[in-house]
Amino acid sequence: MQEILILGAGASGMAAAIAAAQTGGKWVHVTLVDQNPEPGKKLLATGNGRCNYDNLASGEAARYFTAAPEALQRLLDAIETAGLAAWWEALGLVHRADEAGRLYPYSNQAADVNGLLRAWLELLGVDVHSYCRVIGMGAKGRKGYAVQVEENGRRPLLVANQVICALGGSAGPQFGTRGFGAAMVRRFGGRVEPAYPCLTPLSCGEPAMMKRLAGLRARGAAALWDGETLLAREEGEIQFADYGLSGICVMQLSGLLAPERGPAAPAVTLDLFPQWEVGALADLLAGRAVALPEEAGLWQGLLDARLGAALWTAAGLDGRARDRLEAGDWHKLAHTCKNWRFADVALCGWKQAQTTGGGLALDEVEPDFQLKGKPGLYFVGETLDCAGSCGGFNLHWAFGSGLVAGRAAAQRAVKPRK
Ligand SMILES: Cc1cc2nc3c(=O)[nH]c(=O)nc-3n(C[C@H](O)[C@H](O)[C@H](O)COP(=O)(O)OP(=O)(O)OC[C@H]3O[C@@H](n4cnc5c(N)ncnc54)[C@H](O)[C@@H]3O)c2cc1C
Repeated sequence: MQEILILGAGASGMAAAIAAAQTGGKWVHVTLVDQNPEPGKKLLATGNGRCNYDNLASGEAARYFTAAPEALQRLLDAIETAGLAAWWEALGLVHRADEAGRLYPYSNQAADVNGLLRAWLELLGVDVHSYCRVIGMGAKGRKGYAVQVEENGRRPLLVANQVICALGGSAGPQFGTRGFGAAMVRRFGGRVEPAYPCLTPLSCGEPAMMKRLAGLRARGAAALWDGETLLAREEGEIQFADYGLSGICVMQLSGLLAPERGPAAPAVTLDLFPQWEVGALADLLAGRAVALPEEAGLWQGLLDARLGAALWTAAGLDGRARDRLEAGDWHKLAHTCKNWRFADVALCGWKQAQTTGGGLALDEVEPDFQLKGKPGLYFVGETLDCAGSCGGFNLHWAFGSGLVAGRAAAQRAVKPRK
């Protein structure tokens, strides 16, 4: 029987283990190791416990952040060819799609996705080692790769000809991922794009104001600028926190803040009234100032009064009474409502990030995720330089890369080839 070893029992590792056992059948023995007490710890937290596990547009490279979009498209095509959706269906997962093409399990429970994967691991006889920490791996010898693990106070070597590294990235260290995958890549000479927290809130340099706004939410649009150049614009719910800005539309912008290739002078603007032009909004506000009694407040029914007060200050109107404003002042206020600028924005840390930007350069792997020049050694999931947008793209990548590599490892194990 041929040994296949999978390091890391997150989304990509579980998919790889199931695919390897399905493909290799009785000819392979699949071992899946993870330092956590149980497989799928992070998976349980995904999609706010609902697990947005895929997206109808997940085959488009433009929906991911990477330094190598062409190489990415080739790998996404390999996932498409492998038939990820059909694989899920055969496992028994029934999906529910929302209006944005996001796919969830029909029950809306991440625990069900994890439970299903774990049931298949058991059914297929995958040997799962929990509380088993990978601490190193040697170059390939006559018997294969020797992986040193720490388990039950001992440090045994696990040896296999086919090893799939599914060790994740650096995002969400509370789930057991601290960048060990990238360390493994370096150990085997793979090129690594600089890592950065991705799909994370943005801090901004206005601590006193942000403290006053903390906890507020507003629908609108957030745009990322490099100086005066617009880079991207996203609509959705904006959340104000004492450290800065959050919400899916803001987190989405974080993907563009890659070190070295990101903007030199990043700034975010908020448009809290996307459906109005500046002129129409100025007229609306000026009209309300005349029509509404002073006690009703200018912003009532439009915006939280604290946000209104902050906009008033940002427009340079502090100390001005609303019944003394002139047309140009209302225009300035309306312009600020639609272009509220936050300079000095920066990425929040790994703990708040949903995924890792950067990682193993995509042109370093074959279409089946084997590291070039290292027969039998594969890297999958978040360890690679591919960070998806919000909406199920990261789990598509994790499950899809695991599926492709798992099958390839089993095929090579059973019928060795170059
Ligand atoms: C809060 C949150 C919500 C998210 N929601 C979504 C969502 O709804 N949709 C979506 O597409 N994406 C979502 N993501 C992103 C998604 O979860 C990840 O992209 C995906 O889990 C990556 O899978 P992976 O297998 O590469 O890594 P992981 O799932 O991180 O698995 C890596 C595994 O390796 C193990 N490991 C690491 N180092 C060692 C070691 N030295 N020894 C042994 N084991 C080790 C870890 O314990 C871990 O179990 C979310 C992320 C977070 C943090």
